[in-house]
This record gives sequence, structure tokens and C-alpha cells, in this order.
Amino acid sequence: MTARIISGKEVSAQIYAELGARIASFRERYGIVPHLTVVLVGDDPSSQSYVRMKSEKCRELGLGSTVIRMDALTPEGEVLAAIDALDRDEGVHGVLVQLPLPGHIRETRVLQAVDPRKDVDGFHPVNVGRMVMGDPDVLLPCTPHGIQQMLVRSGVRIEGSHVVIVGRSNIVGKPLANILVQKRPGANATVTVCHTRTQDLGAITRTADILVAAAGSPRAITADMVGAGAVVVDVGSNRVEDPTAPKGYRFVGDVDFDAVKEVASAITPVPGGVGPMTVCMLMWNTVEAAWNRLGR
Ligand code: NAP
Repeated sequence: MTARIISGKEVSAQIYAELGARIASFRERYGIVPHLTVVLVGDDPSSQSYVRMKSEKCRELGLGSTVIRMDALTPEGEVLAAIDALDRDEGVHGVLVQLPLPGHIRETRVLQAVDPRKDVDGFHPVNVGRMVMGDPDVLLPCTPHGIQQMLVRSGVRIEGSHVVIVGRSNIVGKPLANILVQKRPGANATVTVCHTRTQDLGAITRTADILVAAAGSPRAITADMVGAGAVVVDVGSNRVEDPTAPKGYRFVGDVDFDAVKEVASAITPVPGGVGPMTVCMLMWNTVEAAWNRLGR
């Protein structure tokens, strides 16, 4: 069997078309342009390129976008003051603090300073709590929400399935487990979360109908760890040296793609799988935040 490829590019294009129509109707009916402001502290090259990508996508879609750049030595108090000003700014609908922050700034303090109604990353504890409780109106974290949308829109049945997630981070594994276990369509899964202390990982991953790899380790998932016909979602984005690549490196997932695609029924590629969905759901949340402001 050779697995069907689930393309994040294709699914995100579908969602962008829907968002485009909503953005146009906001403009025409209410004179509102949803606006995302990104706070970037420091000059980490990967962060700079992520922020550029987000701004470009906003422009393409007709969303407003601003980047507030602060140098790496900016005191925490100044970052918090900037966020406070954005929280009070009526023209800003979404606020995102690009992570990681420089070491002297407490990430939890900064993330908790963002108004939960503008928290387009879905990382504020109020939103995390609402997500766990199954609130249908909460802004969900982008990567796990993108995975759910990708599966649903590709016709993968989540309901009743055994989903095994390898990885328990606060940005992927834990929120994904919470989203997929909810009692509602597009969820209703039985979820197992694995990590580095899991005993006999392969025995568990082989029981998955849907296997999600979010370990951050190339080839963490090999073909012998995948049950025949499983759907495999590769969240991993790992930089590996490659002298033949134009930049001397490339990004690979957590899954041994070539071997696993012969066992799985469907698989997401890297690149072109989960990555495009993450940016797409950020745009979704920016539009949702503006919509919520209108009081629906
Ligand atoms: P993380 O914070 O490093 O967490 C990795 C998790 O995987 C941890 O829970 C760890 O267990 C577990 N793990 C690591 N190696 C394992 C192994 N061999 N067996 C079992 N469990 C293992 O990573 P993250 O932030 O969740 O990101 C995971 C990957 O997804 C990274 O490659 C990241 O770049 C990528 N990512 C991609 C996107 C995207 O949009 N494409 C978005 C977010 C993340 P312990 O808890 O026991 O340490």
C-alpha cells in the first residue's frame, strides 16, 4: 500500500478562500479590517523569518498587520507595557508574541499579559482552560487546531478512532489531546499521549488509527511502529545538515516518510503538511477575534 498524501497546502488554500470571503464581508458590512500585531523581541533568524511569513500572509488575505520590533536587551517591563498598549488598542484584534523570548524575559508573564480575547496563539491560561472545558467559542492553539482541520477536511474519521500522540508539549501534544477528546463532531476520539518515559512506545503507536508524531526528532517514527492502514500526521520540523541543499540544510519531520508511506493509508508530508496549517489557523484566529469583538 502507498499512502494517500494529505496536503496542508491544499487544505489551507480551502480555508484561505473561506477566510477571504469573511474578511471581505467584514469590510463591506462593518467597515472593519481584522488586524494582527506581532511582537518580536530580539533578532533570532528563524523568528524573523516566521514573522515575515505571517505578515506576508496577512497582506495576501487583506488583513491588517503590524510588527513591533524590540531589541534583545529590552527589559521585561517594556515588553509588558507594549502588550498592555496593544490590549487597549481598539484597532488591534490579534496580538502574538513571537517565541522564544530572550532568556531574561519570563515567557509566562508575557503570555499572560495578552488580553485573552486577542490571544490568537491560544496560549493564555484562560483560553487553555476554556479549551479543556470544551468551550466552542475559544481561540484554539494554531498547530493542534490545524491538525484537526486537516484531518476533518481530508475525510479522516476521528470519531471513535484511537489517536496516539507522541509528544506532550504545551503547544502541540497536550492541546491536541484536549481538542480531539471533546464530545463533539470532528473529535470524540480515544486519545493516548506518549513521551520519553513511555514504556514500549512501538507497542502503543502500532495500535493507533491516527498517529501524530510531535517529538522533534528525525526518524523517531519508523515503519515498524505504524499499524497497517493508519493515518500518520508528522508535526516535526527538524533542521538537518544537507550539503546538497542550497542553504546547506533542510527540514525533515519526525517520521521516516519513505518507509512509513508504504504501511500507512494516509500521511502528511514535511514540508507542506502541518506547517502551512499552523499559519492558516493564525489567520483564522485573527478573523475570529475580530468577529468576537462584534459580539457575533
Ligand atoms: P518539544 O517541546 O520539544 O516536545 C517534544 C515532546 O516529544 C516531549 O513531550 C518529549 O517527551 C517527546 N519526545 C521526544 N522524543 C521522543 C521519543 N523518542 N519518544 C517519545 N517521546 C519523545 O516539541 P514541540 O514544541 O511539541 O514540537 C515538536 C516538533 O514539532 C518539533 O520538531 C517542532 O519544530 C515541530 N513543530 C512544528 C510546528 C509546525 O507548525 N509545523 C509547530 C509546532 C512544533 P518529554 O516530555 O518526556 O521530554
